[in-house]
Amino acid sequence: MEFPSRRRKFAINPQKELYGLPLQFYGQPPLENISLTEFETFAVERLKLLKTVENLGVSYVKLSEQYIKKLDSEFKNLNFPYRVDSSGPSEYEKRRKDHISHFILRLAYCQTEDLRRWFIQQEVDLMRYRFNDLNPKLKLEFLHKNNLQYDAISIEEKRALQDKLINSSYGVSGTTVEEQDFYKVPFQDALDLVRTRKVYLKAGYVYIPQQDIVTIVLNDFRTGLSKALALTARSLPAVHSDERLQPLLNHLSHSYLGQDYSIQKNVGKISLEQIDSLSGKSFPLCMRQLHQSLRENHHLRHGGRMQYGLFLKGIGLSLEQALQFWRLEFIRGKVDADKFDKAYAYSIRHMFGKEGKRTDYTPFSCMKVIMSNPPSQGDHHGCPFRHCDPELLKQKLQSYKVSPNGITQILDLVKGMHYQLACQKYFELTHNVEDANFSLSHPNQYFVESQKVLGGGKDAKREMVDTPQRSQGNTALKNSAAAREKAAVTASDTNPSQDLDEMAEDLDLNFQDT
Ligand code: SF4
Repeated sequence: MEFPSRRRKFAINPQKELYGLPLQFYGQPPLENISLTEFETFAVERLKLLKTVENLGVSYVKLSEQYIKKLDSEFKNLNFPYRVDSSGPSEYEKRRKDHISHFILRLAYCQTEDLRRWFIQQEVDLMRYRFNDLNPKLKLEFLHKNNLQYDAISIEEKRALQDKLINSSYGVSGTTVEEQDFYKVPFQDALDLVRTRKVYLKAGYVYIPQQDIVTIVLNDFRTGLSKALALTARSLPAVHSDERLQPLLNHLSHSYLGQDYSIQKNVGKISLEQIDSLSGKSFPLCMRQLHQSLRENHHLRHGGRMQYGLFLKGIGLSLEQALQFWRLEFIRGKVDADKFDKAYAYSIRHMFGKEGKRTDYTPFSCMKVIMSNPPSQGDHHGCPFRHCDPELLKQKLQSYKVSPNGITQILDLVKGMHYQLACQKYFELTHNVEDANFSLSHPNQYFVESQKVLGGGKDAKREMVDTPQRSQGNTALKNSAAAREKAAVTASDTNPSQDLDEMAEDLDLNFQDT
């Protein structure tokens, strides 16, 4: 590994061109040699940044004052490009770090669908924050540099269309229309804005106010990144053949998950009799809804069985308890014991890694529930804050005795598409606490936090609080030898290619919804 001097790199680096702007679409991979130490440091620091983006995204409304303030400070602490007003060597180094660290995490986060989804979401949020921070001139430069050749319309054209622009554009008034630029964009590049009727459409072009152009940028970035990750995944065998990199990348990819709810430390601490009462007190709304539907209909369709079954496994049901639980409920309905044993028991054993590929499956995170497999007619899975009709959600919350004021607050958050924040608000209201004091990312985390607040089931509580942390990497990685050793253990203990969609396919083969 070479250790070229930074001054020399700055002078001759052919990629200097890439760092002309404070923000980029990461279209070109870095081509220079870097040391392993730099590789690790960059990767860990970007991971820290993305973790902060994730936590802030579920604790604050995105781009709210507090969100921006806290993210600003993380940018400064970690030395990433921040509020750029200079382009000297130190700014160059920050942009270089931004570039290289993004590509290292691509390698780590292209391995499974879950990892890709998490990475794309955090990078898109990061891009949103950084693009919004650019001044109008830099925004235009950025668009042009990235083949988004949209031009701001002239003042004359704006005046001629003024009334139409005010009437059709969200958040634009007679005063603000004067102050801001409007971009003329082919309508097919802005389908989201057209679909939600947020822009003026004329002769195949939409007129997008400056504040909304970010939607186009993010769509483009998301699509490009998703394709790039799929391509990167194909080159993984070559990367994995490098024994220095493989453990490190596996280690990094396991660092995002926080608590690992698939590791059952509290097996048997919960009895089947407790489930009804726990569902009312400590289950998040998604699981409460699934439990209620199961009790009412004595059946759940495939998506519901997966989501709820893995959650129950995560809170501590053993395989024997799970089989008993589902069996008892199903035979109360139209399924007889024989049919249950033939058609359904297999899938439950599968969830516990006792059938098929024998993978011990992980309970679904909020992101997985919110972003994949939306429920259709007759399904009860999904996230009620994301997938329920607002009127139905309101009725549900009323039936759970949430106050009218609380319901309004929750519905406002839902309207702004802040589903996890809405869920956290539901937690605060139903647990009578001012501030939930955690960033919700997982239904099982909701359960653990609820148990902490309620102080119920001391044994279960102690065990659950002790749920093992997936190694966070940051400190461990500082010592590279130790990191690699530890990563090697992690890699051999877990199966990085675990993909819940594979399981879904596998299960689909084994039993049908009836
Ligand atoms: Fe469940 Fe997460 Fe939605 Fe809450 S935000 S209801 S925990 S999926």
